[in-house]
Formats: sequence, structure tokens, C-alpha cells
Amino acid sequence: MLTTGLENNINASSPAHTNKGRTSWNLKTSTLAKDTINRIRIIVESLKISPNPDKPMIPLTIGDPTTFGNLKASDETIKAVLKSIESGKYNGYAHTQGHEFARRAIAKYSAHQSSEEIKPENICITSGCSAALEYSILALAERGQNILIPRPGFCLYQTLTEGLGIQVRFYDLLPEKQWECDLQQLESLIDENTAALVINNPSNPCGSVFSKKHLEDILAICEKYYLPVIADEVYEHFVFPGSKHYAVSSLSKNVPVLSCGGLTKRFIVPGWRTGWVIIHDRENRIAEVAKGLRSLCGRILGSNTLIQGALPDILEKTPQSYFDSVIDILSENANLAYGMLKKIRGLNPIMPNGAMYMMIGINIEQFPEFKDDTHFVQELVNQQSVFCLPGSCFEYPNFVRIVLTVPKEMIEEACARIAEFCEVHYKVDNTIIENNLLGEIPY
Ligand SMILES: *Cc1c(COP(=O)(O)O)cnc(C)c1O
Repeated sequence: MLTTGLENNINASSPAHTNKGRTSWNLKTSTLAKDTINRIRIIVESLKISPNPDKPMIPLTIGDPTTFGNLKASDETIKAVLKSIESGKYNGYAHTQGHEFARRAIAKYSAHQSSEEIKPENICITSGCSAALEYSILALAERGQNILIPRPGFCLYQTLTEGLGIQVRFYDLLPEKQWECDLQQLESLIDENTAALVINNPSNPCGSVFSKKHLEDILAICEKYYLPVIADEVYEHFVFPGSKHYAVSSLSKNVPVLSCGGLTKRFIVPGWRTGWVIIHDRENRIAEVAKGLRSLCGRILGSNTLIQGALPDILEKTPQSYFDSVIDILSENANLAYGMLKKIRGLNPIMPNGAMYMMIGINIEQFPEFKDDTHFVQELVNQQSVFCLPGSCFEYPNFVRIVLTVPKEMIEEACARIAEFCEVHYKVDNTIIENNLLGEIPY
């Protein structure tokens, strides 16, 4: 018998109706929840760690620059928030994209990203840069499609994407070319379901800063395949002396760019959860996506308004000397660590030009006691109490990542301990020695 919805309703209220609801608390979580995986957590939790009690722990894993107390938000940044609180004006809801005056302030602060004026309607203020990335991915891609992400790369891109049934495809960054993309391999990944290319410049974990030419080469590929760019530029001003950062959007003529940024890293306030996405779409190619992005802001009604109230002052009044001093500390730490690590047999540090990290290659075959980078990392903690993140967290085995935000003395001590550890475990390749004993040239 065919039934209508109406009959069902009538039946539902009748006691004779057999209820089709659940019969137990045997609930399952959603596919999205189940398939949302943070690789760093999984890998770090799988390590069997008991630090050497005779040596104080040096965690070079922590990407939060506030952890060690050597890097602090500037007084001007703090004052701006106090003023916002005291005004009593920012306790209510804002526009879902954020207060208009706050978006205006971001537009002004980000003017270098575009040859055209950035309009406040093309800015969404989000809960951290993470949410800016999430909205950008959600607006551009859906189930069955794929996005291209860097390898090695920040694991959040995968965390945000995989549970949605959107595939990630890794394009390779080449350590021997200062972590530039392998453009040919990148191009080979593109098909009709490729929804976007994610560029992270400067890069976490590599600390690399792309040249203008390289960005133009990437944009040429995007133009050829009508591929919009999601630019994770949260480190846009974190560039060491001698390098220059170009915003992808500033170089793009035709390719739409969603530029994701925020206060987190530059102003050293990750807990304030304030980021933004700026829609750069000069030729109006992705008007529908822009509309979708604005709709997505209705999901959680924006970032917190106290910080929005402070944004104009934060962005205008935090002095350049403050930013310079942070960059000085990071680039000094990078030089110090690089100088010490490159002398160690079996290691191959890659000098960064920006951001807050350094990748260090491990010639794992010269450490035969360890089966891979995670094993190396585990034993380094257990013997020397120095904790690095295994490259596997970034889909890049046989490397480790260290942070450069720790105090200088800690970098020095950590590198000395890494040197000791490597000396103990380094094994000279026996075949080379044997061949030499036989008087043969090994290569
Ligand atoms: C830290 C970081 C983010 C996230 O920033 P939040 O503002 O804390 O969400 C995004 N991308 C990269 C590459 C990062 O390192």
C-alpha cells in the first residue's frame, strides 16, 4: 500500500503504530568525524617515549611560539585588546563575515596583496587561519573531487579534507631546489576533478620562500587548467633578511586566489583564534564560490568580536621594530642551528628563508640501528631528551622538523645533544671501507 506523509503523521500519534525509531543506544559517529585524522597526534602518540631523566627536555616539536616565553605579543597588541574590552562595545554578535570596520582594517593591512583595492565584502574573518583554510576548501571542493597539497606539508590540509570524501594529491617539493615544487609532477596530478591548488608560502615545515619566478610558473599551470589557488600565507611577513615574499594574488592576472592569513604567527597570539580569508578574483571568475564562502560564514557566526574590535589598532599600531626583533631572533636561531647541524655526519639540514622551522634530512642507512625517522626521533628523546617531529608527520620520511622559536641557549644545547647522539649511532658504510682496503675506488 502506498502511504503519504500525511497518513504517517496520523499514524504516528496513534498508539497502535509500530515505532520505527532506534531500539538501543548503539550509536555510530559520522563519517566526517571518524575520518578526521590529525597525523601529528597519531604519530607522536605512537612513539614510546621516556626522556632521559638526567637531561632536561627540549621540545623542538611545539609550533606554538608562546610556549617558551621568549616571544611575546607586543604591548601595542595587548593594549588594543584592553581598549576593546573596556569600550564595552564588542560583546555582541557581528556580521557573519566580521565587523565591517575590522574587515576594512584587514583590507588596508593587506593592500600589498593586490593591485586593486580590496573590498571588505571580499574578506571573511574566521576563527584562526585554520578556519579560513577550512572555508576555502569547503567553498571550492566537494566529495569526489581532489585538491593538490604540498609534500612535505602542513597536515591540517589533509585533516580538513579527507573526512569530506575529497581526495588529497601530493605535489612534491624538492629539497635540493630550496623546496621549490616539482612543476612537472604537479601538473601530472591535475584532472577534471581537481578543484584547487593549495600553496603554503612561506612553508611550514620547510621554511622556504618561493621566488617571484617560481610563483609565476605555478600560476601559469593554474591558468592552463582553470585551477583556483588557496594560498596559505599565514607566514607572509616571516621572511629572513635577503629573501622577499610575494603574495600569490599580487602576481596573478587571471587565476582567482583565496588568501588565508591571520594574527596567529606574526602577532604571536595563536590562542586569539583570529584569521581571515581574502577573495582575490579580479576578473570575477569565481563569483559563485565567493557567495558560497560568505554563506559558510553563517555556520559559526565568525570569530570572536573582542579581537575584531581591537583589529584596527593591532594592525596599525604594532610597531615594525617589534616584527623586526622577532625575525632577528628566528633568523639567528636558523643560522646557529644550521651551522651546528651541517657539521654532523649523517644529517643534512636545509637552510630556511622564512617561517619558524627547519627541516633536517637524515641519512637513515648510516644509522642502521633505526628503522626510520620515527624510530630515530624516539631514541633521540629517550637518550638525549631532545624532541623533534618526524618527517612522516608531513608525509616526508627520513627528515625531522625542528622549531626555531625556542630560546637560543636551547637551540645550542639541542644541537650539541643531537651531535652526540649521531656520533654514537653513526655507522660508516662498511662496503666503502672494505672496497678501500682492497684498493678499489668505491664510486
Ligand atoms: C599555524 C598554521 C596555521 C593555523 O593558524 P591558526 O591561525 O592558528 O589557525 C595555518 N597554516 C600553517 C601553515 C600554519 O603553520
